[in-house]
Amino acid sequence: MVNEILELKTRYNALILAHNYTRPEIQDIADFVGDSLELSRKAAECHAPVIVFCGVRFMAETAKLLSPDSIVLHPNPKAGCPMAEMASPEEIRAYRAEHPDTMVVAYVNTTAATKTEVDICCTSGNAENLVASLPSDRRLLFLPDANLGANIAAKLGRKIELWPGCCPTHNKILPEHITEARQRHPDAIVLVHPECLPAVVALADHALSTGGMLRFVHESPQKEFIIGTEGGILHRMRKENPDKVFYPLEPAVLCPNMKRITLEDVLNSLRDMSPTVELTEEVLRRARDPIDKMLEVH
Ligand code: SF4
Repeated sequence: MVNEILELKTRYNALILAHNYTRPEIQDIADFVGDSLELSRKAAECHAPVIVFCGVRFMAETAKLLSPDSIVLHPNPKAGCPMAEMASPEEIRAYRAEHPDTMVVAYVNTTAATKTEVDICCTSGNAENLVASLPSDRRLLFLPDANLGANIAAKLGRKIELWPGCCPTHNKILPEHITEARQRHPDAIVLVHPECLPAVVALADHALSTGGMLRFVHESPQKEFIIGTEGGILHRMRKENPDKVFYPLEPAVLCPNMKRITLEDVLNSLRDMSPTVELTEEVLRRARDPIDKMLEVH
């Protein structure tokens, strides 16, 4: 199956992008594996005629926004992100009608339709810098992830209105899971994702995006790490750092949607050139702006 995928990939000059949380065998056939910000940048600069996006739907939509002339394949349409469904365009319009002076900052984990109603997007990799760059006298609403919004607000000491959304996967990580892991591995550094509850982030050594975690463990002289995010990232961490030890939390943290895309799905999508991501002209035009603004901030 891998050989067939690689053959079709060459025939169509396709680029396979995979998120750090996808299955190990998907990461191994990808041209590029990364977090949302890194994958967005790759999609914007690649100019590939065909992009096979292995991740959840909003990420494939973002690739289409940034590379509208490419055919973007999303191999399994059932791979959606529940958090991205927690803020609809209608709800944001209603909020704006009540709070016309508020600047709406959307985590990239939103649908393309929702992005048409927001001022600027961010990912967990650039959220802090991005919010810090916004005018300090503006009232801010952060959506849809209340945990990420609260963690940024605490870090920057800035008041931010929070939308009541969350990642159901990261929300399962509780403070006692961190405490127990530290007792089992007292010499390990604890890294968690900023989608975790603020009480969990408070117990960690660092809260980082998956891309940030990978850079941190690579550069750190430490040898042991406790990883508080979706378990798919352990594959790349272990592959790239064979001399270091990585401990998942117990119970394991897995996102069922990120695991939906299989090698068979990738093969079928390349063979059939389907399912493609399609967005209306209006969504392509209006949702691109907050993404472009995001990519301007480092
Ligand atoms: S880990 Fe959470 S935010 Fe990421 S795709 Fe899964 S549900 Fe969505």
